[in-house]
Amino acid sequence: RFEGVTMAPPDPILGVSEAFKADNDEKKLNLGVGAYRTEELQPYVLNVVKKAENLMVERGENKEYLPIEGLAAFNKATAELLFGASNPVIKEQRVATVQGLSGTGSLRLAAAMIERYFPGAKVLISSPTWGNHKNIFNDARVPWSEYRYYDPKTVGLDFDGMIADIKAAPEGSFVLLHGCAHNPTGIDPTPEQWEKIADVIQEKNHIPFFDVAYQGFASGSLDADAGSVRLFAARGMELLVAQSYSKNLGLYAERIGAINVVCTSADAAARVKSQLKRLARPMYSNPPIHGAKIVANVVGDPTLFNEWKAEMEMMAGRIKNVRQKLYDSLTAKDKSGKDWSFILKQIGMFSFTGLNKAQSDNMTNKWHVYMTKDGRISLAGLSLAKCEYLADAIIDSFHN
Ligand code: PMP
Repeated sequence: RFEGVTMAPPDPILGVSEAFKADNDEKKLNLGVGAYRTEELQPYVLNVVKKAENLMVERGENKEYLPIEGLAAFNKATAELLFGASNPVIKEQRVATVQGLSGTGSLRLAAAMIERYFPGAKVLISSPTWGNHKNIFNDARVPWSEYRYYDPKTVGLDFDGMIADIKAAPEGSFVLLHGCAHNPTGIDPTPEQWEKIADVIQEKNHIPFFDVAYQGFASGSLDADAGSVRLFAARGMELLVAQSYSKNLGLYAERIGAINVVCTSADAAARVKSQLKRLARPMYSNPPIHGAKIVANVVGDPTLFNEWKAEMEMMAGRIKNVRQKLYDSLTAKDKSGKDWSFILKQIGMFSFTGLNKAQSDNMTNKWHVYMTKDGRISLAGLSLAKCEYLADAIIDSFHN
């Protein structure tokens, strides 16, 4: 009975926030979870989100069930935001879009589809990757293996290793790719490299599976950040794309995202969508409405949409400023001659510091800096005022 249940380990990412809460030191810093904070390190609700919520109240909108596939206005808006409204995949109705429980739930639904309709097919994931990817495919009973991605020697992309591993995988594998702002490394392929990645995926009849959790957050431009996905779509390939609005609209707890399956015909897309609904129904029946309405209201209203873009640029800009200040502080303080320029080259919310597990433990135990044990720090949780302190902690941890 329940007496036999063992204690599960804390989650490697969300467990960091729990430990942070329990620390009473006033110098403490939570750089674990990727959640945007203001310069005062407070959570931030976007103004456009408040405006969209006000609209919902003014209109007296109800709370009746959504259809299994989610809010139609959201599904249309999210696919158009991803591919561009004039993209042939949209015009030809070749995309099956189903609202999901944010990025995680959308990935999980796609994993359930892989397990059911592609039995035995393997998912290739980058080494390293966001910690939850492995959990998602394990729980869905989808076999996975890793492809080389990060090269600690160059602190950059191991492009040749990546290509070789994708080539070596069994034909018809799913290749999980981070659309932009790779988590945790902050290293993305260049457009030329994306083309080569698409070449090998096509050669091997693999199916690309994009995880897009940071559209607009990497560069500040929604279109630029969707460039990788659009490059693949333009080749007429089938592909899967999971989307999340946790970061770019700050809707973390609303659990709003989508899974998009690009098919080769409208007919196939309709069939795929029917099967995604069939998988969703016994898992959670239908998705929540609140976040879907917010996204639909923001994306569907030109004024709010422009305001959103400005707020996103502001958030992305603050992170870039902190990145620069951290680099400057490290360079000024560190007398070892270590090259810290990798910090400036990384993209998105995170910095992959290269600190190993023991060094990351030192960051937390001695300096009260909470971070994941893979050496990742969330710059979204850092302020300009704390950069010098963090630089001291990093230098101490590296050299001790
Ligand atoms: N994929 C990646 C790579 C992520 O970094 C995240 C957010 N940490 C997600 C997916 C999904 O997060 P959520 O379920 O909150 O949308």
